[in-house]
Amino acid sequence: MTRSIENFRKALQIKTISYPETERFDFDEFKKFIDFLEKTYPLIHNTLERKIINHYGILYHWKTDKKLLPIMMLAHYDVVPVNEGSWKYDPFSADLVEDKIYARGAIDDKNSIISIMETVEALIKADFKPERDIYLAFGYDEETLGIRGAKEISKYLQSENLQFECILDEGGIVTPGSMMGVDGDIAVIGIGEKSQCNYKLTFKGEQGHSSAPPTHTAIGKMAAFIKEVEDHPRKTRLIKPVEEMLKNLSTRKSGLEKILMRNPRRYFSLIKKSMGKNHQTNALIRTTLAFTMADSGTAPNILPDKASVIANVRVLQGDQPEDIKKWLQSFSDEVEIKVLAEEAPTKISNIETRSYQILTDTIHHIFGDVLITPYLMIGGTDSRNYEALSDNIYKFMPCKLTAAELSLMHADDEYISVDNFKRMITFYDEFIRKVAGNEF
Ligand SMILES: [Zn+2]
Repeated sequence: MTRSIENFRKALQIKTISYPETERFDFDEFKKFIDFLEKTYPLIHNTLERKIINHYGILYHWKTDKKLLPIMMLAHYDVVPVNEGSWKYDPFSADLVEDKIYARGAIDDKNSIISIMETVEALIKADFKPERDIYLAFGYDEETLGIRGAKEISKYLQSENLQFECILDEGGIVTPGSMMGVDGDIAVIGIGEKSQCNYKLTFKGEQGHSSAPPTHTAIGKMAAFIKEVEDHPRKTRLIKPVEEMLKNLSTRKSGLEKILMRNPRRYFSLIKKSMGKNHQTNALIRTTLAFTMADSGTAPNILPDKASVIANVRVLQGDQPEDIKKWLQSFSDEVEIKVLAEEAPTKISNIETRSYQILTDTIHHIFGDVLITPYLMIGGTDSRNYEALSDNIYKFMPCKLTAAELSLMHADDEYISVDNFKRMITFYDEFIRKVAGNEF
């Protein structure tokens, strides 16, 4: 195990930082990471076929002569940038202090990639023979939407006409149930993701001197529009992952709450009122919209000829980007809508499957008596690029994090405990043996 910790620390020391602008990527570091894997995991490189896709996307294929559908494990090795100077320890030296490893990427997502590599290397060493093909796919720009990495790897796999029994990616984790208002620990498995759209909304105004203004300037029209949209949120809807989550949580509730949550569809008119009051739960039952940037005007005494605002929309299953544009247009004839980014929400994965059963069995075995539930992810992962390849995409990282540890994701002083990292290896070992072996 000490060796795996040392390998993990070395991986964390490589500065594979993702930026929105491609030209800021230091691709030498990405190359270094690929070489590091090659040097560190010789058995994998002797046994599995490796393909490098679109320069830095990494795909390993453990071939068998078996006909069963393959499985795939995903992870990404890019990390978000750091605030230089505001960390307790250097974010790229991966210091081991009191059984914690401090580094950017410690919980997102080099812990996944390295624990998966450690597991597979050990499986080969132990002479494990898979009963179906295993793929490992590692993206390099997940933090900036995955269009160069995951999307290209997925395209390649689609061109090979592959379908997967299941795909496992990062996503939900094990946390104290108090974060969801229940006792004990809870393990959440993402089975769908909302999508993200950005629209630029522009209003035109009369130009001229501000000493003789019209009733509404471009800014005034825009302000009235913003107020209207904010006052009329999208309709609520109960989708399957949220319904399942409420039912599961109900087993640890009592009184009226228990009765309502046990049958959320029947009591949705009541439930949605309380869910709508909390920002987090509100986001689970409707498409949300936030106006995040605005721009207008050139001088205090000049009427603005236009005003524009960016709306960031998180689309819930049941809505499509088309519906959102029509809806925005319905508030004003004058608004011009420009699409900056647009994506439909993902499919919802099937949970009545062998692989989901194996996943939950493994979680119970490794994490003990935790409440397991599927849920809807509000953020995105690389796996949404793999939708065409499987109906059974599960987003779960076998890590147990407190609320405080979870808040370090993308923040200063990100760390993972040595116990958590070791347990990931134990988890993947059991999961792969069951899902790709003949022990289940
Ligand atoms: Zn991530």
